[in-house]
Amino acid sequence: MLIGVAAETDPAETRVAATPETVKKFIGLGAEVAVAQGAGVKAGVPDAEFQAAGARIVSNAEALGADVVLKVRRPDAAETAALKSGALVIAVMDPYGHTDAVEALAGSGASAFAMELMPRITRAQVMDVLSSQANLAGYRAVIDAAAEYGRALPMMMTPAGTVPAARMFIMGVGVAGLQAIATGRRLGAIVTATDVRPATKEQVESLGAKFVAVEDEEFKQAETAGGYAKEMSDAYKAKQAALIATHIAKQDIVVTTALIPGRPAPRLVTADMVRSMRPGSVLVDLAVERGGNVEMAKAGEVVTTENGVKIVGSSNVTRLAATASALYARNLFAFVETLIDKANKALAVNWDDELVKATCLTRGGAIVHPAFLPK
Ligand code: NAD
Repeated sequence: MLIGVAAETDPAETRVAATPETVKKFIGLGAEVAVAQGAGVKAGVPDAEFQAAGARIVSNAEALGADVVLKVRRPDAAETAALKSGALVIAVMDPYGHTDAVEALAGSGASAFAMELMPRITRAQVMDVLSSQANLAGYRAVIDAAAEYGRALPMMMTPAGTVPAARMFIMGVGVAGLQAIATGRRLGAIVTATDVRPATKEQVESLGAKFVAVEDEEFKQAETAGGYAKEMSDAYKAKQAALIATHIAKQDIVVTTALIPGRPAPRLVTADMVRSMRPGSVLVDLAVERGGNVEMAKAGEVVTTENGVKIVGSSNVTRLAATASALYARNLFAFVETLIDKANKALAVNWDDELVKATCLTRGGAIVHPAFLPK
C-alpha cells in the first residue's frame, strides 16, 4: 500500500496534504509513503523532514501513481492522466460547476473523494476540512483587515488623546465568521455580525458581539435540516439589504464569509454600499473564489476604490500554510485511516460506509455521486 503525497501545481496554493506527523502515522499503519519533491516547501516542510519521518522523496509523477494519492486541490488534467486506475485520490475536489474535471477523474479509473462533502456528523468532525480551514480563514481575514487598515483597532487612551475603537462587521457567522468575531474582539474592535440562520444570533452574542438582521417570520424559518443557510426570498433580501446598507456606512472593517453549499456566494455588499464607507475602510471578502459577497472584489488582489476603500480578495489560508497544512493533513489522515484494514495492513474500503458514500465522486470509470451524475 503506497500513499503518494502529490505537489500542488496551482501557483497560488501553498499548502501540502501531509506533514511529517501524518507520514509517521501512515507508516505506523503499514503504508509506504512517497512525497513529491518539494511538495512541502511552501508550507515550511523541507524534503529532509519528510525523509526523517520515513517517506521516500519521489517525482510528482511517481507520487501521482500511488495506490492512495493525497492532494490539497483537485488534480488538473495532466495530474488526472497520471493517476493509476483503481487508485484512491483524495482532495478538496470543488466539483460543483466543474463537470468536465469530474468526468476526467472518472475516466482515469481512479476513485476520487471530495473531502468537502464529508457529512458534518460527530464521527467525521476530525475529518472536516471545511471547518479546519474556515476557522483559520476567519482568523486570517481579521489579521489582513488590521494590516490594511491605517488606524488602530482597540480604543487607546493616551496622553496625546483618545483613539476610538474600530467598528467591525462580520457577514456570515459560520465557522469562519465565528473565528473572525472572536479575533476582532481580541484585537479590541467593536464587533457586530449578521447571518440568515437564526441560530447564529445566540452564538454572536455569546462572543460579546451584537447581532444585526431583519428578524421576520422568514428569518425564523431560514435554516436547512443540515444546518446550512438556504437561499432567501427577494423580498427578504431587499429588507435585509436596506438594513445592512445603513449599518455598513458606519463600519471601518467588514469581513464577509457568506456561502451557500453548491451555489454561487450571495452578493451582500453592493458597489453603492462600498461607496458609502469612509476612506481608509477595509472589506475582506472570504467568498471571493466562489463568486464573491462584495461587488468589485477580485480574487488574489487588494482593490482600492475611487473613494479610498480597500477590498481584500487575496487568497487567505494559503498565507497560513503551515498551520492550514497541519490541520488539513490530520483531517486526511483521519479519513484514510478508516479505509485501511489495520490487521492486514492493506486498503479495505467499505463502499457502504456513509462517509465513503458522501464523499466518493467517481469509481470504476464512472461518476457515482448522485449530485454529479450525468443528466
Ligand atoms: P458556510 O461556510 O456554508 O457559510 C458561512 C455562513 O454564511 C453560514 O453561517 C451561512 O448561514 C451564512 N450565509 C449564507 N447566506 C447568507 C446571507 N445571505 N447573509 C448572511 N449570511 C449568510 O457555513 P459553515 O461555516 O460551513 O457552517 C454551516 C453550518 O454547519 C453551521 O450551522 C455550523 O455550525 C455547522 N457546522 C457543523 C459542524 C459539525 O457538526 N461537525 C462542523 C462545522 C460546522
